[in-house]
Amino acid sequence: MIAALPLAVDSLAVLPGILDLPLDRFRAWLGERGQPPMRVNQIRRQILANRAESFEAMSDLPKELRGELAASFAPFSTRVERHLAAADGTHKLVLRLADDRTIECVLIQDDGRATACISTQVGCGMGCVFCASGLNGVERNLTVGEMLEQLVRLRNLTATPGRLTHIVVMGMGEPLANLDALLATLAIAGDKNGLGIGARHVTISTVGLPAKMRELADSGKQYHLAVSLHAPNNSLRTRIVPTNDKTGIPAILAAADEFFEKTGRQVTYEYVVLGGLNDHLEHSRQLAGLLAGRKAHVNLIPWNDVEGLPYTRPHDDDLKRFIDTVRRAGVSVKVRKRKGAEIDAACGQLRRKVESEANHRGTETQSRKEE
Ligand code: SF4
Repeated sequence: MIAALPLAVDSLAVLPGILDLPLDRFRAWLGERGQPPMRVNQIRRQILANRAESFEAMSDLPKELRGELAASFAPFSTRVERHLAAADGTHKLVLRLADDRTIECVLIQDDGRATACISTQVGCGMGCVFCASGLNGVERNLTVGEMLEQLVRLRNLTATPGRLTHIVVMGMGEPLANLDALLATLAIAGDKNGLGIGARHVTISTVGLPAKMRELADSGKQYHLAVSLHAPNNSLRTRIVPTNDKTGIPAILAAADEFFEKTGRQVTYEYVVLGGLNDHLEHSRQLAGLLAGRKAHVNLIPWNDVEGLPYTRPHDDDLKRFIDTVRRAGVSVKVRKRKGAEIDAACGQLRRKVESEANHRGTETQSRKEE
């Protein structure tokens, strides 16, 4: 069952979000009010670790300071525009950013895990043919504060005193195209005064930007890397992931191998199985040929039909044959479970729906004004 939940009291911030305020400026602002520098961590910890959603709720701060904070900053720069919840514990949020753009993020809860799936950009420049997020290209990178807010808002949806156990960076955008801000976000998320999620519980996905994959490996962190392959040869992959034209599969595999050598972390290859398009026997043989002998794991994600997109779910027999062929080559394969299927649809679909409703309302208001 899908439930559209009442929204939190939550107006769009016109004040700057506190999580994007540079720490030195925050210290200086506090200093001008006679407050010690330790207040910076105290206030940030209240939002990041203690679930405070307003300055007023920070009862360990002097009342006057709470008032001054509320007059100058917003605890969140984003607003919950839409909140859908599924019976299996999955929540999907569409957040409206301070510049009126929107993004999506998802909380998936199962087997004692609470996984946040976050976006890194508004839109996406990669243009994967099955994905609604890339339809209008990329508009801008998200800030550290905007990425942290997704995590905090999703964490606040877990049962108290629940916490997030995992992060997957697989929402809207190409994460490695916003790598610096992403690494800064994950460093705060990993801090014990932040969300306390260790690097080994974080998965970063990419369509495959070799230079950035190397930079990620060189960061010295134990993040898990998931490469969205979706096809086993260059011509088919370029049809599905157009940016493949510039990189090509061999360069991506070479960078993934280096990632494994430097970090010791096995690379996962994501493969959305589109019925009749990339699920032929020869495709499974080619994929097996690419990955045999590599320390690799394959996640197969059978496509679910989405209105307006010309792709179909693979037949069970074809999927089974695909799995068997890849497994026989000694490559580990799993079919990824879909959680919250009824609210999941395709990546970016809910956001597009919210945007088109908003545009429709805007047009109606405009025509009423003109009448
Ligand atoms: S699937 Fe990911 S990388 Fe591809 S267009 Fe969508 S958001 Fe971008």
